[in-house]
Amino acid sequence: MGTWTGDPSILSYVESRLRRGIYRGIGEFHLAVGEAGSAVVRGFVQLATRHGIFLHAHTDDVAVEELLRLDPKVRVLWAHAGMSAGADTVGRLLDRYPNLSVELALRSDVAPGGQLDPAWRSLFLRHPERFMVGTDTWVTSQWDRLPDIQAGIRGWLRQLPREVAEQFAFKNAARLTGKHY
Ligand SMILES: [Zn+2]
Repeated sequence: MGTWTGDPSILSYVESRLRRGIYRGIGEFHLAVGEAGSAVVRGFVQLATRHGIFLHAHTDDVAVEELLRLDPKVRVLWAHAGMSAGADTVGRLLDRYPNLSVELALRSDVAPGGQLDPAWRSLFLRHPERFMVGTDTWVTSQWDRLPDIQAGIRGWLRQLPREVAEQFAFKNAARLTGKHY
């Protein structure tokens, strides 16, 4: 996991899997600052643009920008909104990179205590087509917690206009993955 950006065999493996034609994205993968310039990551960007699919990157604001700069056509889904990036940083990147989408798994700071944070709320209303909720079942215990996680998400979605909530809940994800409602 930590060495994939230096391992060309991962690129050829994914390339062969993509021939099945059933995939809509590549990831979630971790990417550290300075790794986007590697030949393997550049190869993944080419692969994604050629297949018209997105990259799902778990990375911070600096590295996601390095990734986005490789090709203006590459579509990136930013996992956890960078995990710790604030609404101002996320907003600046959304303004600058039209092919960036953001998912909000594990971001309880969006609605501390269940109440939608005002800075996030205004960003959500400014970019209603660019966000989606996420659950991230990264360990099996997350499946046990899933009903609670979903209830928490629904709690803050209800504090948004219904149309925006629907975009976050499924419409934006459907568009990113090539489905239409
Ligand atoms: Zn992650």
